[in-house]
Amino acid sequence: MLLTYQKFDRIIKKYTPKDWVVEYLPGPGHFSVGTADPHSGKIHIPYRDSVEVLLIFLHEVAHIKYRHIQACNQAEWYQEYVAERWAYSVAIKEKIEVSEYRLRVLKAYVRRRYRRYLTVCKLYGIEPKRKATPGQLNWMGLEE
Ligand SMILES: [Zn+2]
Repeated sequence: MLLTYQKFDRIIKKYTPKDWVVEYLPGPGHFSVGTADPHSGKIHIPYRDSVEVLLIFLHEVAHIKYRHIQACNQAEWYQEYVAERWAYSVAIKEKIEVSEYRLRVLKAYVRRRYRRYLTVCKLYGIEPKRKATPGQLNWMGLEE
């Protein structure tokens, strides 16, 4: 189903957490970047009514919903994993068509974060506190 401007708007309204506001980043040049700032209560997303921006928005909402942004001590890769999975599941529930390409981009992002996590742990000679489960590795397209 085509993502219309009305549908885009409806989903933004429906999923914006209570006491938060959404602001659009001005002009071009803000590719694939979203932020959620707990101090101002603002979610910033690029100004484009596209599936990509909707996924960026839902990703930020997940960080708020799962309380990642308020002093969370979970491994960063895991927070990103949770946010991407939730954003994707909402998109499916709302019948937003997510392309294979977009899904690969999501997975590649989490995979990069996970690899970086393992590299940093190794660098400092510490045991990774949260290693991916076989199901998570499989989702990321990695093998043990
Ligand atoms: Zn994130």
